[in-house]
Formats: sequence, C-alpha cells, structure tokens
Amino acid sequence: LRRVLILGLPVHDVTLAEAVQLILAWSREASDLQQVITLNPEMVMAARRDPAFRAVVERAALVTPDGIGLILAAHWRGTPLRGRVTGVDLVEALARTEVRLFFLGAAPGVAERAAAVLARSAGATIVGTWAGSPRPEDAPETLARIAAARPDVLCVAYGAPAQDCWIARHRTELTAAGVRVALGVGGTFDYLAG
Ligand code: UDP
Repeated sequence: LRRVLILGLPVHDVTLAEAVQLILAWSREASDLQQVITLNPEMVMAARRDPAFRAVVERAALVTPDGIGLILAAHWRGTPLRGRVTGVDLVEALARTEVRLFFLGAAPGVAERAAAVLARSAGATIVGTWAGSPRPEDAPETLARIAAARPDVLCVAYGAPAQDCWIARHRTELTAAGVRVALGVGGTFDYLAG
C-alpha cells in the first residue's frame, strides 16, 4: 500500500474498491482489530494540536484521503493520490457485501434509521445499532452490546477525533469481541438516515 505524508501524517493511496477489498480480507482473517480512518483536513489540523490523536492516525492500518484538500496537498507535493474515499462511500459499499456490521453513535434512533435504509436498499447485514456516547462511563455497556452482536466491522459515529480515539482506546476489548475492523464514520448515519 503506497503511503503519502501530508503535514507529516500518513495517508494511503487507495481507491474505494481497494479499501473495501482490504476491509473484507481483514474481516475474514485479521487476528486483531484493524483501525480505518477517513482523514479530512480538519482532522489533519486536529492532529497537529493533539499528539494522542496523531499517534492514533500513525498507528491505523488504513488511512483514506477524505477531502479535496488532501488530494490537492498531495498533488502539490508531487505525490498524487488517486481519489477520495469517504465514510459514506465505505459504509455504502460494505452494506452491499455479506459483512456483519454494527453501527455505533449518532443521536438516538439515527443509526437504526440508517441501518433500516441500508438493509432495504442494499441488503446490508447490520447485527446491531447503539447510540451510546464516547464518555468513558458509557463504554462498558457499549462494549457489552458489541460483544453480544459479534460484528465483523464496527462503524463509529462520534465525530473526529473522538470516534477514532474511542476505537484506539478500546482496541483490546473490541478484538476480544471478535471485531476485525473498526472505522470512524463522522456524520454518515445522519446522511443515510436523511
Ligand atoms: N456524535 C455523537 N456523540 C457525540 C458527538 C457526536 O453521537 O458525543 C455524533 C453526531 O450525532 C453525528 C456524528 O457524531 O452523527 C458527528 O458528525 P459530524 O458531521 O459532526 O462529524 P465529522 O464528520 O465532522 O467527523
């Protein structure tokens, strides 16, 4: 996987199809959690202020370019990226596969509505939804619900960087729950729920 540095942060040169193939391969055979981040310019700025978030981005298995600003920055550096891969793109593409999805985050009811839309329109297999919150005191219940549902892929909508830090913080419990891939998806459920 070709990696480009943008303001010191790694971004992978992947197309949507390649990102989906990687996630599907991990969802079948990864031995521990693989973290996927869709990196936009606001997140690049946040990482410059927040070393903990920067470390999460640097350790992620896959960082996709989400935002024309990153595509332009890579182009100007002479290390072009082939295109943009957003959270909405990834969730819609994964919905068309057999993979077992869990939708975490957004306001109460939103993840359920997004799941219903994708089940109907794409035949998605969504094994659970839960709003929860990124607060540490809510993590035990959230993790118990995920463990009970046994998803392959966990989509987390707590906004960046909270969602990405939440995934990194709970890597061990998520691996134990059988989750192979976790990705931060920002406002994706709101968009899909309409
Ligand atoms: N969100 C949440 N809990 C929080 C903060 C945010 O569930 O404590 C949800 C919010 O409802 C929305 C998503 O996280 O669905 C963030 O969307 P936004 O478009 O702000 O995120 P971005 O795409 O900028 O990362």
